[in-house]
Amino acid sequence: MEQYKIDHKAEDEMIEAAFQEVLAGYLASNHRKKVEIITRAYKFAKEAHKGVRRRSGEPYILHPIAVAKIASQEIGLGSTSICAALLHDVVEDTDYTVEDLEQHFGKKIAQIVGGLTKISGGIFGNKASVQAENFRKLLLTMSEDIRVVLIKMADRLHNMRTLGSMTPNKQYKIAGETLYIYAPLAHRLGLFAIKTELEDLSFKYEHPAAYNHIKELIKESEAHRTEIYRKFSAPIKQKLEEIGLKYEAKARMKSVYSIWNKMEKKKVPFEEIYDIYAMRIIFDCDDPDKEKITCWNIYSIITDLYKLHPDRTRDWISVPKANGYQALHITVMGPDGNWIEVQIRSRRMDEIAEKGFAAHWKYKIGDGDEESELNVWLRTIKDILDNPEPSAIDFLDTLKLNLFASEIVVFTPKGELLTLPNNSTVLDVAFELHSQLGLHCIAGKVNHKLVPLSHKLKSGDQVEVLTSQSQKPRPEWVNFLATAKGKNRLRVALRKDQQPIKEQGKEIFTNFLKKHNLVGTNEVITKILGFLHIANREDLYLALGNNEVSLDDNLAKNITKQNSTSILTKLFRRKPSSNDKKEGTTTEIKIDTKETYILQHNENGANFKIADCCCPIPGDDVLGFIDENNEVIVHALDCPRAMMLKAGYGSRIVSTEWEVSTQKFLATIHIEGLDRFGILQELIQLISSTLNIDIRKLNIEAKNFVFSCQLSVLVKDTQVVTDLCNKVKKINGVKQTSRIY
Ligand code: MN
Repeated sequence: MEQYKIDHKAEDEMIEAAFQEVLAGYLASNHRKKVEIITRAYKFAKEAHKGVRRRSGEPYILHPIAVAKIASQEIGLGSTSICAALLHDVVEDTDYTVEDLEQHFGKKIAQIVGGLTKISGGIFGNKASVQAENFRKLLLTMSEDIRVVLIKMADRLHNMRTLGSMTPNKQYKIAGETLYIYAPLAHRLGLFAIKTELEDLSFKYEHPAAYNHIKELIKESEAHRTEIYRKFSAPIKQKLEEIGLKYEAKARMKSVYSIWNKMEKKKVPFEEIYDIYAMRIIFDCDDPDKEKITCWNIYSIITDLYKLHPDRTRDWISVPKANGYQALHITVMGPDGNWIEVQIRSRRMDEIAEKGFAAHWKYKIGDGDEESELNVWLRTIKDILDNPEPSAIDFLDTLKLNLFASEIVVFTPKGELLTLPNNSTVLDVAFELHSQLGLHCIAGKVNHKLVPLSHKLKSGDQVEVLTSQSQKPRPEWVNFLATAKGKNRLRVALRKDQQPIKEQGKEIFTNFLKKHNLVGTNEVITKILGFLHIANREDLYLALGNNEVSLDDNLAKNITKQNSTSILTKLFRRKPSSNDKKEGTTTEIKIDTKETYILQHNENGANFKIADCCCPIPGDDVLGFIDENNEVIVHALDCPRAMMLKAGYGSRIVSTEWEVSTQKFLATIHIEGLDRFGILQELIQLISSTLNIDIRKLNIEAKNFVFSCQLSVLVKDTQVVTDLCNKVKKINGVKQTSRIY
């Protein structure tokens, strides 16, 4: 039958086109151009896999081509790796040997393919010992040449992308293995994009229902999210363009897998995950020296527009993460009242974040040490491999721990094993054991030799900590601490010592504010932090107390200049906290005056107060005035007091709208007419029985056949009042009715 016949010509064209894509990507990279050997490897592999098909039915060669493409374009590897990727299944699946490859392509490529063949069996065997052995093999080959593992990653990624054509049990095995070992390994190697994709793909196969459900929820909320992002990002983009920055801004979605993880861990529904996306700003910067200042400039622009979350500024520029990640993260309140994270990075930082070590290599000039950083890590892996634990499972755990969280293993004099990040020192060990040991540490003994506390440790070192009660923690220790724990414990201790310095700093700061007639609102502080490139208030006081930074008149000018234009019209919609009340003098507005304020009732009452000078009701044209307590007082537009407020406190005026509700409001009507017997009864009859309106107050005066009455009623809106007046006018003898207020 026609449809089952394979069109060999079309298929060949497809294969050729796929390969040309690999070549084109390679030629566009900044590697040396070795097209000849790549083309040769492609032809060799194509010939070797000839006639073989994948489960999906497509020609086998498309798989190595796809792996080569990932290795080149997503990991950033060069010609040797592209060749090895093209050839990676040749030894495993055909009659060719590693020696054959060496003859054709040289020693390096053959070695890498050999390494890949060794670990092709998969990590998960039936027994723990097999597992451990395979894992050991993987790490061994990795320490021989990191490219083995990077190509393995590319191979795994392509297999995951095409997992759909596998049988379900295979899918399950491969997905589990991917989540267990490859995704964390990708993370450790800094391949964040690949890590995320591997996690999502594994999750999709392991929990298809949950995966589809979350996908669906993301889709449903997309329009809303896009709108919020548009609203949020528009003013930022405008400002960035005004300063002439070349940049790219995007909404960065949390991955399906990490959304699910958060829902599971924190037991929250999808709707309550507010950090579902972050805004990412990637700017072009030719001068590496200007990256940091540009990040902080962007910080200032954003915090001018939006309220900063005081505790969530992360400066990974001054102190990059262990895997090389650099960026400035801030969290601000978005227009819908939810916190939005903004990640600010240069193009260079972004590539490192996405491609990990491969990108590091790209930005390092010279061949000499391009893999050195990685080599140190790999050597430590080798050290552990040379001294495995007796139990296979323990060994596996130790390795896994070490692989993903830390880099060296040292021993205490008692033989206790400590896993520490690379570059850890004697002091790290001391803090690791006990904070008191750390704080009083004076030196160490490494392999029984006396060393200073800043001595860097190697895997396998035996470390003894020496202390003295007279020793005191010093701030400069932070420079040679590698563990988060050590840094934290030191920081806590120093904070106690630093209290007087901070007090001093605070005083300097208070005087500065006073001198320049500034109020220490969050906005002003956010701005000052931005100017000084300091992440939080505590650090500001400390820096001031230590005389590391100074506040000059220029700074004050800058603050006040922007202050008047933007601070009072800031966006923030949170309830006043007790903290705010303590700050007393501040009367910052916590209501977004740019948006229409909806006047509404809930179980706690109303979110507004009716001004008692004009008593407006729904249907009246009104405005809101935000008072000292951040309460919205509703005035009629034509109320004389409102006019005065408009003139004097423009920034405290907010436009308002009544929410449609069943709530009733008090309105007062004046009625005049000719007095006659029974008119009062007629009036009350009409209002309470016929119109079913609740009368609250009635004042009647009659004099010389003329009566006047003031009537207060509870009504829904002005329409009811108008109706009422019209009907009252029809009562015989009534001459005039009007609403007083
Ligand atoms: Mn493969």
